[in-house]
Amino acid sequence: MGEEVERVEPSVEKGGWDVIVVGAGIGGLSAAHELARGGARVAVLEGRGRPGGRILTVRPEPAAAPVELGAEFIHGKPPELLALAREARLELEPVAGRHFELAGGEVRPAKDLNDVLGELERARPTDGESALELAHMRGLDSEHGRWFQHFVEGFHGGPADRVSARSIIRQASVTETQARAPQGYGALIDFLSAELVNAGAGLALGCRVETVAVTGEGVVVRDGLREYRAKACIVAVPLAMFQAPRELGGIELEPPPPEVQFAARRFESGLALRVTLRLVEPVPFQAALPAGSFIHALDEDFPTWWSSSDPKDPRLVAWCGGPRCAKIAGERRAGAAALATFARLMGQTLTEARGFVRDVYVHDFGVDQLSRGAYPYELAGADSEVELPIFAGSPPLLVIGDFFDADEVGTVAAAVKSGTSAARTLLGSGHAAAE
Ligand SMILES: Cc1cc2nc3c(=O)[nH]c(=O)nc-3n(C[C@H](O)[C@H](O)[C@H](O)COP(=O)(O)OP(=O)(O)OC[C@H]3O[C@@H](n4cnc5c(N)ncnc54)[C@H](O)[C@@H]3O)c2cc1C
Repeated sequence: MGEEVERVEPSVEKGGWDVIVVGAGIGGLSAAHELARGGARVAVLEGRGRPGGRILTVRPEPAAAPVELGAEFIHGKPPELLALAREARLELEPVAGRHFELAGGEVRPAKDLNDVLGELERARPTDGESALELAHMRGLDSEHGRWFQHFVEGFHGGPADRVSARSIIRQASVTETQARAPQGYGALIDFLSAELVNAGAGLALGCRVETVAVTGEGVVVRDGLREYRAKACIVAVPLAMFQAPRELGGIELEPPPPEVQFAARRFESGLALRVTLRLVEPVPFQAALPAGSFIHALDEDFPTWWSSSDPKDPRLVAWCGGPRCAKIAGERRAGAAALATFARLMGQTLTEARGFVRDVYVHDFGVDQLSRGAYPYELAGADSEVELPIFAGSPPLLVIGDFFDADEVGTVAAAVKSGTSAARTLLGSGHAAAE
C-alpha cells in the first residue's frame, strides 16, 4: 500500500508558505482546499505515502466497483460534507438496508433497534453513566440489552461499559438516514488532491511531523529531518496522536491548545474492523435477502455483515467493533476470523466456504501507527455538557479533527466541518493572507 514512501517535493522544502497543514486526511485536505481557494499559499505534510487517512478506497480491477477499507457511509445530512460532495460531483445513493438476524442457520427479521433507542432517548442519562449502566438502570430485558450492547460496540467502537450513555443518546438522531458513494469515498480525496495541485499547493508524502511550535514570526514544523516555516499551521491528525508521547510516535504542540488536552481526556480511540469478501457468486443466505441487507449474528467474532447490491460483483462486508477487535487485531488475523465466521454462517467447513471467496480486503486502523484506532468515542465519566469548539487553538496554530463535534464525533462530516471552519478563521485573521 506504500504507506511509508517518502516523497517530499523540493518546492515544499523551499518554504515561503502562508500555512502548513499537517495531515492529508479528509479534514486536512478540506482545510487546505478552503485556504487555497481563499488565496493562501498552502503546503500539506502527510506521514503516509498516500493522502486520505482513514478514507481508503481500493479498486480490485479497473472495471470493478471500489472496495472501502475505511469510511463508507454519510450519516444524516451534514451541510459542509454534502457541499463538498456536490463540488466534487460525488454521486450519493441512499442506504436503506433492512436488518436480519442469522441464528441456528435461520434468518429472521432483527430486533428493531430504533424501538430500544427511542425508549432510551426518553431517559435522561446521569453524569458519568455508561451505555451498559443506562441499559441496566432503565430495565432493558436481557434480549434488548444484548442488542443494545451489540449496537453500541459495533457503531461507536468502544466497550459498552466505557462509552458515555449521554453521547449515545445525543448521536442517535444523527444516524437516522445514511448514504454512500458508489464510485468510492476516495473520489473525494482524489478531487481535493487534484484541486490543491492545480492551485499550486505543495503536498509532501512520507513526512511525519514530530513537533509544531509557535514563534514570534509564525510557526516552525519539524519532522525527523527537516524544518518548515510558515505564518500559520493547521494540525489535522487523529486524536490518538495527541494522546501518545512523542517518543512513541505522538505529535507535540508548543503551546498545546487547552481544548486539545480536554478532548484527549474526554474521548478514547475506538476500534472497528471491516473485512470485505469478494465472492464468486452470491451465497445462499445473501441471495435470499433483499439487496443491501444487514445481517446480524450476535455471538460471532464478526457479528455484523452487509451485502452489496450488485449481483454481478457480489460481496459481503464483515464488521466488528469495540473490544472484540482487540482479540483479532492485525490484517491476517482479522481476515482469518472473518472467513471462519463466514464458514459458520454458511454451515460449511472453512475449505468449502473458502471456495466461494475470490479475494479478502482489510486494513486494521487500530494497529496502524498513523491512526491508532478507528474513530473516537466519548468516555463515560469524562463526558460533559460543555460544548467543544469546532476546532482548537487560535491563530497562528489551530487543531482540527473528528473529535471536536460531540454530535457527530468520529465521522468524516465532523472532520470536514472542523477543517473548513478553521481555514475560514485563519483567512479572516490575516495569518493566511498572501502578501
Ligand atoms: C474502518 C472505519 C470505518 C469508518 N466508517 C465511517 C463511516 O462509515 N462514516 C464516517 O463518517 N466515518 C467513518 N469512519 C471515521 C472516518 O474515517 C474519520 O472520522 C475521518 O476519516 C477522519 O478524518 P481526519 O482527516 O480527521 O483524520 P484521518 O483520516 O486519520 O487523517 C489524518 C492524517 O494525518 C496523518 N498523520 C498522522 N500523524 C501524522 C504526523 N505526525 N505527521 C504527518 N501526518 C500525520 C495520517 O496519516 C492521516 O493521513 C470510519 C473509520 C474507520 C477506521
